[in-house]
Amino acid sequence: MKTYEAIFIDRDGTLNPDPGYINSLEQFTFYDFAIPALKLLARRGHRFCIVTNQSGVGRGIIAPRDLEKIHRYIENKFRENEIPLLGIYYCPDHPEQATIRRKPGPGMFIEAAREHQLDLTRCLMIGDAGSDVLAGAKLGMETMLVLTGRGSETMELLAKEYQPTYVVKDLLAGAHLILEEEKD
Ligand SMILES: [Mg+2]
Repeated sequence: MKTYEAIFIDRDGTLNPDPGYINSLEQFTFYDFAIPALKLLARRGHRFCIVTNQSGVGRGIIAPRDLEKIHRYIENKFRENEIPLLGIYYCPDHPEQATIRRKPGPGMFIEAAREHQLDLTRCLMIGDAGSDVLAGAKLGMETMLVLTGRGSETMELLAKEYQPTYVVKDLLAGAHLILEEEKD
């Protein structure tokens, strides 16, 4: 039996298609399997933190207030579906002036852990990019790579020392796998 204190999830390419620098609510749409997957996990007591790099803000492509609108929309969707969301953490840094908040840096995870009293080694990180897997692995978290978004590409790029704990087709397959593991 395995349960996580919280499940950390990347946004673009994991919860929603990633056309690159989504800068309006009109451009944002969940994958059709995302909410059903999260609901399955929520029903079994899981709660979530979204951790997302949004360098479009630092690059001047995304206005912070438009990003806020997208995140209010996501929060509402979670609430409507009774999916516990501890928070949405985003990093606006331009990669060339990145602080430790930008994944694969640990900043957003440490913030979330502090705010919600989480032991990160008892948490899971799910994402489609190398930076997601790396960030999680460096913090002693279990990691799940989804093959949506940049996932397939990531799979080839990842060095041996950063093999994800799990590789799944998409978030729904991931949800089923987590629930299976919990049964054991
Ligand atoms: Mg992503």
